[in-house]
Amino acid sequence: MSHFRSIRAAKVAACLLSFAAAAGLGGCSTARYVPLETAPPAPLPNAVSAAAILAPTADARTELERLPRSSAPPIALRRAFLELELGHARAAIDATSQVLYSASRPAANEEAFARYLRGLAYVKGGTPELAAYDLDRARQLALDPGLVGRIGEVAATRPAAASGSAVAALGVHSRAQWHAVAANPRRLDPMDRATRITVHHSAMYFRNDSPAAAAVQIQQIQHEHMAGRGYGDIGYHYLIDPAGRVWQGRPLRWQGAHASGANNIRNIGVCVLGNFVRGADGQQPSAAQVGALRHLIVALMQDHDIPAGEIFRHSDFKATACPGPLLEPVIDRIARELRGGVPEYRVATPAP
Ligand SMILES: [Zn+2]
Repeated sequence: MSHFRSIRAAKVAACLLSFAAAAGLGGCSTARYVPLETAPPAPLPNAVSAAAILAPTADARTELERLPRSSAPPIALRRAFLELELGHARAAIDATSQVLYSASRPAANEEAFARYLRGLAYVKGGTPELAAYDLDRARQLALDPGLVGRIGEVAATRPAAASGSAVAALGVHSRAQWHAVAANPRRLDPMDRATRITVHHSAMYFRNDSPAAAAVQIQQIQHEHMAGRGYGDIGYHYLIDPAGRVWQGRPLRWQGAHASGANNIRNIGVCVLGNFVRGADGQQPSAAQVGALRHLIVALMQDHDIPAGEIFRHSDFKATACPGPLLEPVIDRIARELRGGVPEYRVATPAP
């Protein structure tokens, strides 16, 4: 923050100098006052596009309150999206009706968005059987690539393989096995589904193959996240120790805290224990860790229908050394291989 203040101060100073030099000619655009703490209100959507209608929102409730009571398609569709973000399926369906059953027939693109949002509302509202027609129709009409991708995701929202999942088949170590402290649900946001995976490192040198040592490491991370950073639980959903064991971190029904703000939405956080940087404090990920990471990614893709294009490194979201220059190429290679087709490794789902 002080960094930005000093930049602003410098800009204003430079501006005053140039203002004096120009003897009052011209304006001083950099001196425009911008509040430092509060984000500007989201602009009203004025187009029916994925960028306008389906953009992530920082605060759905506030944005919804600011929307005019208009039935113009961009406004009504954005309202439907925001109602869905708040879990109000019924209100979202009502908003889409303003577009689908308006006096004038909706344009194909408007209908595509309305059908998609209504289908999603049916799925979220617990009546997925009602969604099939809307989603099929949306698929026929959709041209916006951002919308086409989203429709594919909803179609993938089949009843999740809750227990008989591919990840479960990896023999994930439970929270009890690392003596997790109980989470604080008041500081957690629910996660309705997962659409992407982000890989991290713990940034602490660690090369002990014993499960007891891994348990202590994970406890420390949870303590740092809860007591140090005020998180409701450990920030990652899964952790992988040097022996290749996979440990359950934050349960997937809760959104993670690992990729900064809105980047955490529907994002599964995987932490590989170790410090994968160059130099004396760094280390290479073990072969067991690389193998386990690949298996976990494949299993998560399988359980949640996550495409290979949705596998990220923490550094894809912000300037950070995480997950380390020695792990990044491993993640890139895994993602590239999985984009190339059906993985050769399929996790066997245990018999019920
Ligand atoms: Zn990270």
